[in-house]
Amino acid sequence: MSLQPLAVPKEKLKTPPLSIHTLGDRVLRSLSKNVATVNQETRLLAREMLQTMYSCDGIGLAAPQVGVNKRLIVIDIDPEEAANPVWVMVNPVIKRVVADLEVGQEGCLSIPNVFADVVRPARVVVSFRDLSGKPQAIEASGLLARVIQHELDHLEGVLFVDRVENQLALAQDLTKQKFSLRDVQPAPVR
Ligand SMILES: [Zn+2]
Repeated sequence: MSLQPLAVPKEKLKTPPLSIHTLGDRVLRSLSKNVATVNQETRLLAREMLQTMYSCDGIGLAAPQVGVNKRLIVIDIDPEEAANPVWVMVNPVIKRVVADLEVGQEGCLSIPNVFADVVRPARVVVSFRDLSGKPQAIEASGLLARVIQHELDHLEGVLFVDRVENQLALAQDLTKQKFSLRDVQPAPVR
């Protein structure tokens, strides 16, 4: 486990520092750029993303969701557990897929109250830079692997609803939440 030089309390703030963009917003569909240098600005963005994620009951957040098209993601798959590791990944890349496909339910802070099954590889190796700018790599499985892939998709302008196979049920759920199926795009081929 890499210790991140960033300690953000796992608490809900009444006014989170950043606001989250939702389905239909163009920023979610734009390609994000690599972070050239990991610096104070990167660390501040990561901190505010974590505070916003905790405040909104999320377990992962990608920079485009807060209107910044940069390759930065934050993840904490167990926010209730103070000791659970927090992942801040700068310029993350999936190096290897090391297991079969698995079905799991997903949601997204940018598409609130919509949940659906998505098929993804069960285990991945991801490389990234930490907040000191040091290269890291981890092999992730289970929920962590799923969240990493979900957040990486955001950096490509891809949303989990693009990968949902049951379009009929999805259309109903989206309509119920006042979203439009027109904002769903065909998923890229893996
Ligand atoms: Zn998401």
